[in-house]
Amino acid sequence: MNGRSLAYLAEIPVERVKGVGDRLAGKLRQAGISSVTDLLFHFPRRHIDRSLITSIAEVPLDREVTVVGTVAKVNARHVRRGLSIVEVGVFDGTSYLWATFFNQPFRERQLGPGTEVALSGKVERYRGRMQMRSPVVDVVGRAAHRRTGRIVPVYPSVAGVPSWRLEQFIANALKRSRPVQDPLPAEMVAALGLVDRDRAVAGMHFPEDEEEADRARCRLVFDELFRLEVALALRKQRQVEEAEGIRHVVDAELVGSFLESLAFRLTGAQRRAIDEIQVDMAAPHPMHRLLQGEVGSGKTVVAMAALLTGVQGGYQGAVMAPTEVLAEQHYFGLEPLARLVGVRMALLTASSSDRTEVLEGIAGGTVDLAVGTHALIQEGVRFARLGVAVVDEQHRFGVYQRVQLREKAEGPQPDLLIMTATPIPRTLSMTLYGDLDVSVLDEMPVGRPLVETELISPEPLSLERAYARVREEASRGRQSFVVCPLVEDSEKLEAASATAEHDRLLDVFPDLRLGLVHGQLPTDEKRAVMQRFRDGDIDVLVATTVIEVGIDMPNATVMIILDVHRFGMSQLHQLRGRLSRGVGPNWCYLVGDPSTEEARERLAAVASSDDGFRLAEEDLRIRGQGTVFGVRQAGMPDLRLADVLTDFEALTAARREAFALVAADPHLAAHPEIAEEAKALLGEQAEWLFIS
Ligand code: ADP
Ligand code: MG
Repeated sequence: MNGRSLAYLAEIPVERVKGVGDRLAGKLRQAGISSVTDLLFHFPRRHIDRSLITSIAEVPLDREVTVVGTVAKVNARHVRRGLSIVEVGVFDGTSYLWATFFNQPFRERQLGPGTEVALSGKVERYRGRMQMRSPVVDVVGRAAHRRTGRIVPVYPSVAGVPSWRLEQFIANALKRSRPVQDPLPAEMVAALGLVDRDRAVAGMHFPEDEEEADRARCRLVFDELFRLEVALALRKQRQVEEAEGIRHVVDAELVGSFLESLAFRLTGAQRRAIDEIQVDMAAPHPMHRLLQGEVGSGKTVVAMAALLTGVQGGYQGAVMAPTEVLAEQHYFGLEPLARLVGVRMALLTASSSDRTEVLEGIAGGTVDLAVGTHALIQEGVRFARLGVAVVDEQHRFGVYQRVQLREKAEGPQPDLLIMTATPIPRTLSMTLYGDLDVSVLDEMPVGRPLVETELISPEPLSLERAYARVREEASRGRQSFVVCPLVEDSEKLEAASATAEHDRLLDVFPDLRLGLVHGQLPTDEKRAVMQRFRDGDIDVLVATTVIEVGIDMPNATVMIILDVHRFGMSQLHQLRGRLSRGVGPNWCYLVGDPSTEEARERLAAVASSDDGFRLAEEDLRIRGQGTVFGVRQAGMPDLRLADVLTDFEALTAARREAFALVAADPHLAAHPEIAEEAKALLGEQAEWLFIS
């Protein structure tokens, strides 16, 4: 295969590119551009078609246009509290145009006199001047004076280097790099209707026309997803091939008598999931399965069946939860079930007082099932014979812990079941959990009451309606939650607002017992509050989102969620799922004053839909793949070009091709470039993808 591979170009430092000096290279490096490949992958934000640039003197009114000129004048002023205006006068040799920006004070510095800019938007006549309100701004530098090329790329500036200089560097780098090698078999490229890699890389930067830019993007989007899926396919292949697992005994008595001891019949979905798990567990290689099921879908029983499948063959099981509160809840939920069938269980958290004893039990094999937080995977914890591990709410953990937990076993690897209550759209599960098999509990146990959800405004009158419900339920011995706003990145502020709300509600509910829990409380105190709530000694619990994941409070029937616009749809759905475990009916009040039509529609959707998957998909669409479910912590690969939602078809194709390729050539012996590239280009992400 001819040409230079991206992996090869990734080895060439950026200072070797013509025009990039050492000093500049240092800055680029800090901004993440350290090699030729990095530079070639610094893609334009958009392209400006010079043939569509209009001269200001001839600009038509009220149509989308682009003008290019030099900033001649800048005025910035404060009109009143909360409103500032920056006006920028641009001259293009034919006439003046004023660009007006509201509440964007940074424009004053960005667009100093002499700056060459492209402004896109609609022109209107205002007080005798030509004006564009809040146009799209591209600082283009010398693009205006270029003589060649119809399409001008506009680059996001890095390290203060303007677009036009980046363009020069990239042009220089590209000249020396072409042809760029294509690692994909030509037949595959043709069958998928893609352009080759060389054309794609060049076409991303300097296309002849819009269409070429689109084709280039399609190819590179595919590449990005393909690399990821190849890595996942290899990882899965390796698990199947290399890891020595345990052939668990699936037809012994323990699981059967456990299921018989239940007061209810399994749903079809539960039965299916247990079957799938047992097939995995009986196999010689370790299970890696994701169990997805909404709050209340009955995951606990399924997890218990998996754990007991291990125990009945003489192995131990472990359950790991993301917080102490959840670990305790799992313990208290599972322990009675375990006791029914004579299985010994222990709880291990960082603050366990009987820690030494529990550790001895785990190491000595007198404990069959251990439940805990990350304390379970810390140094000093040794299992006698760990055979199966259940990890709850995986997205809070990340993949390293998953691996660590598995490594707790000496000898054959334990089977692994990961549970999540977050409905994960298929697009995400294909990337985030792409190496896992998936079971879905898509059927709710019958008789589960719905949550009556209502959107109310924060006016005293509407609030009073919710408060009345709280009082009424309290008089029947039921409990309520008041959930305080999410404060991005600040547990402190979050705690402060919850505390203030708690103090305010003391006046609203003078004869009820109030409690307060937030992330800033010491663990002991947090636990004590939750225990008092569980024991029924608190009527109204004011809480931050620490209660989000997994907390069961079967006696709670009312939830008031404040400032709902700060939450994602999926999150609201999860929150209200804390109710509805007992013997309904339940009420959820979403308090907020949505300022946009879209926000209003989103909340209406939460109020009217009980379909967690649909809400999650919608969330993903609105908020973007990076922001949903905190997937970043979980090691969600950074995709530069691809968007798993809009590029769903490419994702599906990439997955199909990648898994087919690895099935036919398990070690990619015949496709070394593909293997090399997946490793080289996934960078740090590769570390976890290739972790053994
Ligand atoms: P989650 O999936 O949220 O962990 P749980 O396992 O806690 O759900 O189950 C929620 C409630 O439903 C529990 O009280 C549990 O006993 C009950 N439950 C589970 N499976 C069934 C079933 N098949 N029929 C009736 N109730 C069930
Ligand atoms: Mg649960």
